[in-house]
Amino acid sequence: MPSKRVRPEILDFKPYVPGLSVEEIKAKYGLEKVIKLASNENPLGVSSEVERALRLAAAGAHRYPQNHNPRLNEAIAQAMSVPAECVISGNGSDEVIDLLMRVVPRPGVDNVICYEHSFSMYGLTARLCGVEYREVPRGGNFRLPLEALAEAADRNTAMVIVTSPDNPTGLAARAEELQVLSGVLPAGTLLVVDEAYMDFSWPPEEYAMISHVADSENIVVLRTFSKAYGLAGLRLGYGVMPAWLAGHVRRARAPFTVNVMAEAAGIAALADDNFYSATLDVVFKGRERLLARLPELGCEVTPSQSNFVMFRPPKPAGDVCARLLERGIIVRHLKSFGLPERIRVNLGLPEETETFLNVLGEVLRG
Ligand SMILES: *Cc1c(COP(=O)(O)O)cnc(C)c1O
Repeated sequence: MPSKRVRPEILDFKPYVPGLSVEEIKAKYGLEKVIKLASNENPLGVSSEVERALRLAAAGAHRYPQNHNPRLNEAIAQAMSVPAECVISGNGSDEVIDLLMRVVPRPGVDNVICYEHSFSMYGLTARLCGVEYREVPRGGNFRLPLEALAEAADRNTAMVIVTSPDNPTGLAARAEELQVLSGVLPAGTLLVVDEAYMDFSWPPEEYAMISHVADSENIVVLRTFSKAYGLAGLRLGYGVMPAWLAGHVRRARAPFTVNVMAEAAGIAALADDNFYSATLDVVFKGRERLLARLPELGCEVTPSQSNFVMFRPPKPAGDVCARLLERGIIVRHLKSFGLPERIRVNLGLPEETETFLNVLGEVLRG
């Protein structure tokens, strides 16, 4: 027996690759101002209502939160018109992905299916849980391959995962098509729809699956406060799932993973309609601008229902990202998604988007 024992899959485990931080880039290039458009964060920052709620909540930081955060779950249920018993809050939706992966598939027996070039946390979490992870190819122009997912599912498929709107492409699946998929999956297979970016789809009722969860036995929807609500640093997300499954997850999970600050911030964020509308306004206008301007610079763009745009520049994407970085603009080279020719840029403030377009234009001409 080796004296430093870890599970064999940990020895060659590939860690999650986060976007670069503003501090790292400032230090590396000696820059004072850096524009970060790489992690799909909220361009408006933190809502002032949330800041106020955080100051108030700070006085209670010596207390444990109420287990399972019932006040927050109730607020989510109200805002989203879903039953509170179906809501599981988590330390980011990453925690809900992890909980599902540990509660649903049997390690060494079951499998989980997604498609290629998708959010890496699904595969990483499956691997850590000893669950087989399969990927089917995408359709043409990166289309979400719903038929191929249905065909790939077998009786040991515990979950089929679809990100809609998708990261990194920005494409969304229609709710109608996802309902068909949920109906043709083998008995006992869950359809997990990661709606981290659903706030940015228009019109939402054509795409969102959240209202269909309560009437189904096998649909789970994941949402997050990290994007449209501007709380990425506090770590708060949730899953909406059939009540029977939520009950099992609640029994199995570790206590207190959503802290008192995140809980207070989430409740305040849901009540702050002005900040939410202002966020959508900046994103929708900026997205129109990017989708119009990038092709004029010779870039091939993919239509987006999200707060970012994926594009292929007419020069090598890695070089373009490096040149942008030197000038203080962080975007996401999609090499880590297996798409080395493409870049993902999220919407910033209008002036940030313009600076990005100007500098990109110089980089592509130079
Ligand atoms: C950003 C993102 C999330 C949200 O993760 P959190 O843990 O809630 O911050 C979930 N899924 C996808 C595909 C994402 O891009």
